[in-house]
Amino acid sequence: MALSDILERIAAAETKADRPAGSTRLIAVSKVQPNARVAAVLDQGHRVFGENRVQEAAGKWPEFRATYPDVDLHLIGPLQTNKVRQAFDLFDAFHALDRTKLARKFADEAQARGACPDLFIQVNTGEEPQKAGVLPAEADVFIAECRAMDLPVQGLMVIPPIDEEASLHFAFLRRIAERNGLNGLSMGMSGDFEKAIAFGATHIRVGSAIFGERITP
Ligand SMILES: *Cc1c(COP(=O)(O)O)cnc(C)c1O
Repeated sequence: MALSDILERIAAAETKADRPAGSTRLIAVSKVQPNARVAAVLDQGHRVFGENRVQEAAGKWPEFRATYPDVDLHLIGPLQTNKVRQAFDLFDAFHALDRTKLARKFADEAQARGACPDLFIQVNTGEEPQKAGVLPAEADVFIAECRAMDLPVQGLMVIPPIDEEASLHFAFLRRIAERNGLNGLSMGMSGDFEKAIAFGATHIRVGSAIFGERITP
């Protein structure tokens, strides 16, 4: 599906939800996609992209950025603490902050640089053992902890369990955000971004619907 089709679907979903046009930010998830497909989307004027691995992004984005300096790059996958410095060089936002050790590293790096990327705290709303994210019961405390470190927490992020109704998880995430005074909601992927917009998503992460199926390496 072309980028223009996705943008039309986003606009329609915003209208249907009585939301202002342009209130949803589309993160085009380019992980594992051939460079030619990424270049095509850049050529169509899109500038917000998501990657889920530091190494992969490091091999791809410095070169694209030489041509398109205004790219806004989001890390949507987990991050190891030993890669925080490299990740700060590459990314404008992080979507998977989920533990104190990583928050401390972010705070140290932010202090050293005098700037910090936008941060989203991932919440494991389905309480899945294999999935990253803080547990819902621990979210309020962790958010407070990050704020106490002066970290710029923009909002929350979720990847709902694959076999459950996503809407329940979107609604749950929004409730946790609201009670903590957070506006950002990073939720919704290729299969459910319209639903996520209905539940207030501010950032949707869409890969295969824009670029086509991922070619697994
Ligand atoms: C890959 C990925 C996406 C995009 O998935 P699609 O189904 O291709 O849209 C979104 N969020 C995260 C965290 C991902 O890893």
